[in-house]
Amino acid sequence: MKICPGKSILSGIAIGKIFLYQKKEFQVSRRRIGEVKEELSRFEAQRKRAMEQIEQLYRETCKRSGKAQASIFQAHKLLLEDTTYLESIRNMIRSEQVNAEYAVAVTGLLCSNTFAAMEDSVMRARSADVRDVSGRLVRLLSGIEETRIRLPDSSILLADDLSPSETVRIETEGLLALVLKNGAANSHAAILARSMGIPTLVRTDVTLLPSYDGMTAIADAVEGRLILDPDEETLCAMREKMRLFLQEQEGLRSWIGKENISPGGRRIDLYANIGSLKELDQALYNDAGGIGLFRSEFLYLGRDTYPTEEEQFLVYREALSRMEGKPVTIRTLDIGADKREPYLDLPEEENPALGCRAIRLCLKRREVFATQLRAILRAGAYGNCSVLLPMIVSAREVREVRSLMDEIMQDLNARRISFGHPRLGIMIETPAAALISETLAKEADFFSIGTNDLTQYTLAMDRQNPELEQSFDVSHPAVLKLIQITVENGHKAGIPVGICGELASDLSLTGRFLEMGVDMLSVIPSRVLSVRRAILTA
Ligand code: PEP
Ligand code: MG
Repeated sequence: MKICPGKSILSGIAIGKIFLYQKKEFQVSRRRIGEVKEELSRFEAQRKRAMEQIEQLYRETCKRSGKAQASIFQAHKLLLEDTTYLESIRNMIRSEQVNAEYAVAVTGLLCSNTFAAMEDSVMRARSADVRDVSGRLVRLLSGIEETRIRLPDSSILLADDLSPSETVRIETEGLLALVLKNGAANSHAAILARSMGIPTLVRTDVTLLPSYDGMTAIADAVEGRLILDPDEETLCAMREKMRLFLQEQEGLRSWIGKENISPGGRRIDLYANIGSLKELDQALYNDAGGIGLFRSEFLYLGRDTYPTEEEQFLVYREALSRMEGKPVTIRTLDIGADKREPYLDLPEEENPALGCRAIRLCLKRREVFATQLRAILRAGAYGNCSVLLPMIVSAREVREVRSLMDEIMQDLNARRISFGHPRLGIMIETPAAALISETLAKEADFFSIGTNDLTQYTLAMDRQNPELEQSFDVSHPAVLKLIQITVENGHKAGIPVGICGELASDLSLTGRFLEMGVDMLSVIPSRVLSVRRAILTA
């Protein structure tokens, strides 16, 4: 038995046999051609076929997973019409008198390497698209038919990584789980895999040995591990765990589409917390009524430069469009404390959790903050948008943000760039904010209580310290009291009050939140339906 840890991107358990998928690489040879004109028309004919194939994939994916998932194939079609890309291929055929498949392979490689070296992550992601499209053209020109990836029943597909085209070629009938050795959690393949709704692991610490093909295995995407060749005892234990998991999941799906109204007639909004677009799939899948907290700082992490306005705008716009009019609450940059990257050049601090973080940092780094606000305001034209400010402790901070937003709006107006008018909310995550919530309520359109930090600052306990994990009581009476104060003050001023910290999904408190009059709970996507059940049965 061998246990290989991996990152779960869709929870679940599957017991089956490994289907080892290895890409068939083939060499493209360089040939000197006689007639350039003939070769160019051969290229043109296969380009048209590639367009047809991609159109077919687009339609199939639309049907299977929706327009948003299928949009990747529209990007592929655009590339097949891109004059720079096409002219480079044609020029090579003309000037070097080489066969079309060779010209495509070389141009594709050059283009994808150029994209891969770019700073902008959106452009970097295009590298995989170029490889995918060029691979398709080369196969067509070489007469290699694209085959579906058929799997035997009860397969756990184990691969190094998958391109979007490969992912949609998988016949899902026999597929129980997907395990990738590489594969970024936000790659298109991962997005498509998630939409199939099967347990999925990426970045799994496993060597792809031919001897694994056909081996019994367990993809445990609850714990985040692949178990190869499990012993009898593990198999029994995991079968039971799987049975319970499936029973629970099945039961929960029956709450889809129901209104969040308690037996006592109290209505509450139930939203999802996300950190990236990939989690939006999960939010939609679990029937979240909106996004209560989009932790935008994750766009700033895991990279070497600030994300550009355009890059952020595209992400926010996609979130808003895909939520189709449902509320999307974008929290502004909450960087500092544990969330840092060298390029951010954050000051070394004795107590970073009490330091220059979140709104404090943003108000010092006006350029960075204004870039984000501009991106949010522009995206706001595409849906139902709210802005949420982290770590607010004074009315002055909120006023400063409002006036910065007004300035940006005036500028956008002058430049005739469309923008929205998002509601402005405040995170209540310090005792100070809760205690002056009566004053703050006059400055804000809504409150959202961040119980993770509220607990940390109320109990004076580092939320990151494993030694304190047992005593870090998120439902401490002092925390509940501060929640109560905030709700009352919010309501006195006529603004809604929600909870977006982890406590929101504590089912033992759902009844209490209803009694307090909390208007919104925002939880991780996979908890939405269990909280709904708790509301309806409270
Ligand atoms: C919180 O503090 O409760 C919160 C939701 O924000 P974060 O966990 O991102 O600090
Ligand atoms: Mg917080």
